[in-house]
Amino acid sequence: MSQSNNHHKLPYDETVQCVQCGYCLPACPTYMTMEKETHSPRGRINLVKLAAKGHLTLDELQQPIDMCLGCRACETACPSGVEYGKILEGARDVLEEHKASRMSKPLRFAQNVIFQKFFPDSKKLRAAADLIWLYQASGLKSLAHKSKVIRILPDNLRAFEEVLPKVISPLERRKRPEVLKPSSATIPRFKVAFFTGCIMDAIFEKINRLSMELLALGGCEVLVIPEQTCCGALHAHAGRRDDTRMLAKRNIAAFEQLDVDFIVNNAGGCGAQLVEYHHLFAGDEQWEARAKAFVDKTLDITQVLVRCELPLLKPISATVTYQRSCHMTNVQKVTMEPVELIRSIPGVNLREMANPNMCCGSAGIYNVVNYKESMEVLDAKMPFVNETLASIIVTTNPGCLLQMKLGVQRVEYSPKARVVHLVELLAESAGLKTDQGSSIDSK
Ligand code: SF4
Ligand code: SF4
Repeated sequence: MSQSNNHHKLPYDETVQCVQCGYCLPACPTYMTMEKETHSPRGRINLVKLAAKGHLTLDELQQPIDMCLGCRACETACPSGVEYGKILEGARDVLEEHKASRMSKPLRFAQNVIFQKFFPDSKKLRAAADLIWLYQASGLKSLAHKSKVIRILPDNLRAFEEVLPKVISPLERRKRPEVLKPSSATIPRFKVAFFTGCIMDAIFEKINRLSMELLALGGCEVLVIPEQTCCGALHAHAGRRDDTRMLAKRNIAAFEQLDVDFIVNNAGGCGAQLVEYHHLFAGDEQWEARAKAFVDKTLDITQVLVRCELPLLKPISATVTYQRSCHMTNVQKVTMEPVELIRSIPGVNLREMANPNMCCGSAGIYNVVNYKESMEVLDAKMPFVNETLASIIVTTNPGCLLQMKLGVQRVEYSPKARVVHLVELLAESAGLKTDQGSSIDSK
């Protein structure tokens, strides 16, 4: 057994708040699917406590922490106010350091390139998205499927290749303006800065574009600044706290130049990272205050759109269900606004699924790196979706959107539902052009 001397850096103080009551257990998807105490919130807290005291090695702690989705449903369920998110992030940071110290140099180098050079660089991300567009638009994709070459990919990549949305063309991408004026009002209702995200902007650019157009239609002036970068959520999930801080500083510095009412994002996972930026700088006199000012202005797009008068004139006659984003629900605490917006669409019959707060198993890149466990969570989730008989499944996060598409494929879903981001559904009802590159028309 190897032991690192980093165990004293584990967040012991937070773990002692836990009184072992177990109220969080039914809320935990991995406890539901894996049926082990070590894969429950209480079990993980105990393991962190034991490792902090040196009674457990970091190697022994690794797997239970890796299997956690980070959905933070346990935090919402806990009557004692245990801050599980802080325990998880603290443990991930220490484990990442431990892993890195034993990783081969080439592997470490490759990881550093992905996290430090790829995600923060919008040009590289767009170039990758352009390659995906070429693959989809040139006929290579259908050739790969017809010839069955696609089968050489591992299961996880093959699954995601199938459900990726149609990526917007490089030509179309270049047309995005940096300022959108309000469509009707002469004085904007709100002046907002739009947070584009990294993967959201590369792969789901159409949803970003529709988000900006909806905000403008609702009377907002929308600014898009090129200096912004990735929110750092993927880095935080991987325990790369220094990289996360670096990205947070870049975003804070970029957005504080603007005189806006709100900084608006449209991805539950990114939003959850953005609203906790101040946690990254606890005790840092200069950056904590700047991060707090950023956080105070940060809102999910639904929180702004409910305050606007959207011209939702086109009826959408369908039964709709809403797959809540864990990070939006449990971290941002945004729950009612999406529901209110869905209900405001004429013709929509919203049918809430049972166990609505259960994670779908997407969880950042959990569904890519822990594909099997993620699909077990998804398979436990889908019966609740299925029961609603909804023909449209609405999400508010790109990861949930792809995961729900996988879910629809995996179960005998009847009728075959289309999976959309809420912004797409609102845009459709508002008469905005939703066709090119939208996930709305791809089942
Ligand atoms: S974050 Fe989610 S998966 Fe992890 S322990 Fe809490 S409820 Fe379970
Ligand atoms: S985390 Fe909260 S709900 Fe879960 S066992 Fe500890 S005190 Fe109870």
